Amino acid sequence: MKTIFQKIIDNELPCDKVFENDRIIAFKDIAPQAPVHILIVPKKAIANISQATSEDKELLGEILLVASDLAKKFGIESGFRLLTNNGETAGQTVFHLHFHLLGGKRLGPLG
Ligand code: 5GP
Repeated sequence: MKTIFQKIIDNELPCDKVFENDRIIAFKDIAPQAPVHILIVPKKAIANISQATSEDKELLGEILLVASDLAKKFGIESGFRLLTNNGETAGQTVFHLHFHLLGGKRLGPLG
C-alpha cells in the first residue's frame, strides 16, 4: 500500500509544495510544530534512514543542501532544526524517508 507521501509524490493527494525537482519534493507539514515546518522527502521510496544504502549517498547530500536553501528562503537560516524520525519508537509515523525542517521560534530540547 502507498504511503501518504507516495500519494503526494504521485499527485494523488494535494500538498502545500515549497520545492520540487526530479529527486526531491518539499512541502509544509499539515500539523506544524513551529512557524516554519517543512517536510523534505526524496521521491525514491526509502522507508527511513536505516534503509538507505551507499547508492543513496548523493541523494542524501542533496537533501541537506535543499534544507539549507529552504531555511534561507523561509528566513530561518540563523536557527533551525533538521531531523528525521527513524522507527516507531522514535516517533516515525509515515514510513517514507523524510526530514523535518523546523524553525521560526526558539526550539525546545530534543527527546
Ligand atoms: P513522522 O512522525 O513520520 O516523523 O512525520 C510525519 C509528518 O507528516 C507529521 O509531522 C505529520 O504532521 C505529517 N503529515 C501526515 N500526513 C500528512 C499529509 O497528508 N500532508 C502533510 N503535508 N503532512 C502530513
